Amino acid sequence: MTQPFFITRRHLLLGAAASLPFCLQPVSALAATNDKPPLIVLDPGHGGHDPGAVGVTGLFEKHVALAAALDLRDSLQKTGRYRVIVTRDDDVFIPLEKRVAFAESQKASLFVSIHADALSDPHVRGASVYTGSRHASDAEAAEVARVENAADGTDQSSSFGDVSPEVASILESLMSRATRTWSVRLQRDIVKALGTDVNLLKNPARHANFVVLRSPSIPSVLVEMAFMSNRQDEALLQTSAFRKKVVSNLHGSIETCMTDLMAAA
Ligand code: ZN
Repeated sequence: MTQPFFITRRHLLLGAAASLPFCLQPVSALAATNDKPPLIVLDPGHGGHDPGAVGVTGLFEKHVALAAALDLRDSLQKTGRYRVIVTRDDDVFIPLEKRVAFAESQKASLFVSIHADALSDPHVRGASVYTGSRHASDAEAAEVARVENAADGTDQSSSFGDVSPEVASILESLMSRATRTWSVRLQRDIVKALGTDVNLLKNPARHANFVVLRSPSIPSVLVEMAFMSNRQDEALLQTSAFRKKVVSNLHGSIETCMTDLMAAA
């Protein structure tokens, strides 16, 4: 695999202001952890006044996302090989950009956001995994990202709000080379693992412009465990057996990816 490099938003902005090749200097997020175990940030979607998707029987996405994230945190922490922090461990609202900023400030090695989605078609069901991209892989992915981003109620159209659209486009293409490689790798691992245990959405590896998947330096994925808008999926989301399957497969995929990420650092 290609040797990865890690770039921070500050490096990107400095590079844009000076010379673009500067952007390509490697910055290892793992090396910056100073002998501490690498950090995984888990991000349970929504919270507080934002329930996320509301299921066909009234189940709130924010609750199932938090339950799964806490189980996954406990499972990963038990290995003793990682530090694991959740962006929220209670029913509180945290703006989307703050979740990413937090992970960057802590020099996380991976960022995994956990959700359960909804569409107007009640027949659509199954798990899917997203990576971040300005352009959505399909109309359904674009709609899922639009709904997820609406949680903040602010304009989420640009990933680099403080620079011109032209510079933003250059920065996005530069940041994507390393971070995106690992994001896609993790996405592929998770889809493969989940596919052995739970229903998958058609074309389950998707990409779209999610606010929480815009870190320039941290490989990031967003997992939609199932559809709140499908009666069978909603019922599954309420069972610990289903959650255990999802958590177990996420755990395995994250461990495999982290092993290779650390070996490549
Ligand atoms: Zn969500």
